[in-house]
Amino acid sequence: MNGFLYRLRDAIARFMYGRSGVDQLGIALLVAELVLSFLGGLIPLRAVGAALRLLSLVLTVLLFYRTLSRNVAKRRAENARFLQWWTPVRTGFRDVRARRADKAHKYVKCSCGTWCRVPRGVGKVELMCPRCGAKTIVKT
Ligand SMILES: [Zn+2]
Repeated sequence: MNGFLYRLRDAIARFMYGRSGVDQLGIALLVAELVLSFLGGLIPLRAVGAALRLLSLVLTVLLFYRTLSRNVAKRRAENARFLQWWTPVRTGFRDVRARRADKAHKYVKCSCGTWCRVPRGVGKVELMCPRCGAKTIVKT
């Protein structure tokens, strides 16, 4: 049995050699596909459910196509474009979570878009934005 598994693993490795494989965009496609097919089964409207399942099928085909593609350079470029969009989104989510978890500080967004942190419970303070220097009075 073990010998068979090793041979199978070798065969897969040989098959995948020179192919793109699963990258971050591939994982995103897989997650999106699972979510869509899950939603498709959940929604009672038949037409919407069918549309979601179809979309999920399209993503599955795309995923397989990209994973098995021999045009590694092109797939890498796609993944880079995806990461360019996704990385700031992910960082944004992480920041929101961190601000929510931090009960010791109050977060104030400056008009320039910078988040400023003030300790809670110190009364009224004048806050100066570290980036643009704008001053605001903040109640903590
Ligand atoms: Zn500012």
